[in-house]
Amino acid sequence: MRLKLHISGLVQGVGFRPFVYRLAKELGLKGYVLNNNSGVSIEVEGEKRELDNFLVRVDSDKPDISKFFSLQHNFLNDSGFDNFEIRDSLEDGFKNISILPDISVCEECSSEITDPQDRRFMYLFTNCTDCGPRFTIIEDLPYDRKNTSMNKFVMCHDCQSEYNESGSRRFHAQPNACNICGPFISLYDLEGNLLCSKEDALERAINLIHAGNVIGVKGLGGYHLVCDATNEEAVVRLRERKNRDEKPMAVMFPDLYTAGKEVRINMLEERALTSVEKPIVIVNKLDSFSLAESVSPGNNTVGVFLPYTPLHHIMLKKLKKPVVATSANLTDDPIVIDEKDAFARLSGIADFLLIHNRGIVRRCDDSVVRIAADRQIPVRRSRGYAPVPVILPFKLDKPVLALGPYMNNTIAVGVDNKVYLSQHIGDLDTPLAMEFYEETINDLLSIVDVTPEIVVGDMHPGYNSTKYGEKKYPDRLVKIQHHFAHILSCMAENGLSPKDEVIGFAFDGTGYGTDKTIWGGEVMIASYMGFRRALHLRPYRLPGGDKAVKEPCRTALSLLYDTFGEKTYNLQFTPFQDNERDLLIEIIKKSINCPLTTSMGRLFDAVASIIGLHHKISYHAQAAIALEQLAGKSADTGAYPFVISNHMIYQLPVIDGIVDDLKAGVPGPVIARRFHNTIVNIIVDASVQLRKETGISQVALTGGVFQNSILMECAVRKLEENGFSTLVHQLVPPNDGGISLGQAVSANFM
Ligand code: ZN
Ligand code: ZN
Ligand code: FE
Repeated sequence: MRLKLHISGLVQGVGFRPFVYRLAKELGLKGYVLNNNSGVSIEVEGEKRELDNFLVRVDSDKPDISKFFSLQHNFLNDSGFDNFEIRDSLEDGFKNISILPDISVCEECSSEITDPQDRRFMYLFTNCTDCGPRFTIIEDLPYDRKNTSMNKFVMCHDCQSEYNESGSRRFHAQPNACNICGPFISLYDLEGNLLCSKEDALERAINLIHAGNVIGVKGLGGYHLVCDATNEEAVVRLRERKNRDEKPMAVMFPDLYTAGKEVRINMLEERALTSVEKPIVIVNKLDSFSLAESVSPGNNTVGVFLPYTPLHHIMLKKLKKPVVATSANLTDDPIVIDEKDAFARLSGIADFLLIHNRGIVRRCDDSVVRIAADRQIPVRRSRGYAPVPVILPFKLDKPVLALGPYMNNTIAVGVDNKVYLSQHIGDLDTPLAMEFYEETINDLLSIVDVTPEIVVGDMHPGYNSTKYGEKKYPDRLVKIQHHFAHILSCMAENGLSPKDEVIGFAFDGTGYGTDKTIWGGEVMIASYMGFRRALHLRPYRLPGGDKAVKEPCRTALSLLYDTFGEKTYNLQFTPFQDNERDLLIEIIKKSINCPLTTSMGRLFDAVASIIGLHHKISYHAQAAIALEQLAGKSADTGAYPFVISNHMIYQLPVIDGIVDDLKAGVPGPVIARRFHNTIVNIIVDASVQLRKETGISQVALTGGVFQNSILMECAVRKLEENGFSTLVHQLVPPNDGGISLGQAVSANFM
């Protein structure tokens, strides 16, 4: 296996390459290291264990004076290096966009703020050239203090000397500040009354959290809603006010040690939690998990992260307990970033606001990752990662703007061999979301400093992103198919060349097909030039259209009716009253408001309903997630029959098998496991069949369904056992958050 890394930061001229050379030699790895315009690129090849070791140690053992601002990594297939070498620097000649992501507070700064002898003791906006805000405070380029939201603060004598002193850690640290001259916090009630400032505000906020209040805390890329994660009542109150039924909320722990008492953390999860990006990492709860049940109700997993700003550090250190820290917004609206907004939109949600007077120039939600199949899979790529570009294996002919999809939207700007993905924008449902969308497009275009010659959108005529493109760029808009974009995105981040072809599995909830039906269980033979829809699930009906997304029992009934026809009336496995069921079967028969779909996501939902897990859901993919977690409780190796013929995957025998098992009293976890095994078998059988037809042995796994770690891990293992090489997402999300990368790349080949 091969590990590929792109590191930006203070990594040139600091003895970093010789260090990498020695580390690779020590671990017996082959490959190379080289400097380029955006930092250092490394590829190492060897056993997975040693590569994991390398990944951890390249950061933990690096020379003291080197610093990482970002580290992108992915595991790829071998490419056959003979030895390890330091290669000549690569002058790729492209302008290096000098806007960095926000960088979590470094160790030196952390120790200063906890040292009573230091002049920055307890100073909540401490930073240095190696750490601190960047992306979220920059108003204009070049990156100088006068072009940041720090421009209203005048440095005191001491800060200015540090700034001027070439030997100082704060030499030209643009946001440099201290207690005397810099930003500070204040506590307000929701009527807008100032209660107190600075230390008093922090002490009081901490007492209020202990007492069960919900505090809106202004952070780096937006406000969090914060409450005591061990206080069930407080967490329930936050949920009710935020109008958030059951969707898990993230928990910030004071440190790794306290987190380890509540959740299981393996080596790669620890690396992710402590990485410079400090994302939320989705991990399994321990049996002894003692936080409020409502943090992540009915769920085996929880999103966990560590403090990434001095404010978070000190607050959590003083609290001595974990807090829920969830984005401050109402469902579907963007996260709150300024005070005016906070008082207006958080009234009735937060009890108090802990604000500060350093402006947030652009909003940036926390990022989310998950470790599966020994890889780090992004679920949401935002703070800490944006706007670090994905490096392509080829150059784009012209600058491109990718408009993204509708759900989990990100946009992207591509130029030369780089694609800059925006921060997470979210679902484009509300006017506020569309405002943020437009802002982000203009912002990223101006950061990268290009005018797009081609603009790519999704084929779906109803997507607000596509409509935006039709209005703004009618002369240069092209549209590409959703699942093809998923596959292209997976190919691009895995460095495939324009002559490569893949068998691509794009499994998700929904996407507009070229035949105007809803696709989502697609197997494509694809290259950058185009795709052939080789296989798909047998189309089935979604009774009530969008209603079926929120009510998986509707889809369940539709699949049961397809399988059993009139015998469905005798089945017990739906939650409907007789008359309700009869009515739905009528509309299925007459095909009234029952769009056809080949969605794999909806199939997972339907199965979750048939076995009685969730008939209705309150957040996206809830039923499918529950099905995965149930499957995790069984190690059964059985599976259900299916048929692949006529370009179709026939799923009805699967439904038949599940109903047989239910009748025989087979436990839920076993059925859930068998269903997962079945989908893995479908992937492997389809791949074998298509390899025979085409000779292609590279398989790409993409789409939101591949956030399912059981499915991903088993599919990768079985495909590799069968001689396939597999491509999975590690730089951008497999869900629709990664679509904009595929769109950007596609423009080059039209
Ligand atoms: Zn620092
Ligand atoms: Zn100062
Ligand atoms: Fe999708």
